[in-house]
Amino acid sequence: MDHLKIAPIIAYIGLGSNLAAPVAQIQSARTAIAAQAGVQELGFSSLYRSAPMGPQDQPDYINAVMAIATDLSPMALLRCLQGIENNHGRVRTGEQWGPRTLDLDVLIYGDQKLDLPDLTVPHKGLAERSFVLYPLFEIAPRLVVPGKGPIADLVAACPLARLKRLD
Ligand code: ATP
Ligand code: CA
Ligand code: CA
Ligand code: CA
Repeated sequence: MDHLKIAPIIAYIGLGSNLAAPVAQIQSARTAIAAQAGVQELGFSSLYRSAPMGPQDQPDYINAVMAIATDLSPMALLRCLQGIENNHGRVRTGEQWGPRTLDLDVLIYGDQKLDLPDLTVPHKGLAERSFVLYPLFEIAPRLVVPGKGPIADLVAACPLARLKRLD
């Protein structure tokens, strides 16, 4: 019944780290995501450096965005990303936006808008965060963010803040 196979969904993952060699964390996370069954890498942005949100007494973050094709459901993808966070020493302290070895967020899942108890897609903070919008625009300049509009418009309306693209 191969002809009934459902086409994979294109999704975008936001990666962030500000502890324990952040650049290496992001590179290792990229490899781990691509290695998952039901996930294929389609693209990966440059690395960016950003100022922390929330508590300011923590290091700057390294951020990137990855495009994937996936057969996983939205919740299966989230659980898979949380497993990778755990494997990278993520400690859940309860402090909002505290320092972390690895943060993996589902930014976009196809054209879907979801508001589940554990998963909101597109990601809630997406339109206000330069460290998400700029790398996303870099790899998907024609993307239309479900419910929010063209990525180019979102980027134009979002100040860079202290975001810097790394060479
Ligand atoms: P923010 O979500 O504002 O970026 P954060 O990444 O620091 O903050 P976490 O502590 O990593 O927040 O996650 C808190 C909860 O967010 C998770 O338990 C997860 O269930 C939920 N969540 C809701 N929507 C998403 C999403 N699109 N991607 C990842 N987690 C999500
Ligand atoms: Ca794979
Ligand atoms: Ca996050
Ligand atoms: Ca998160």
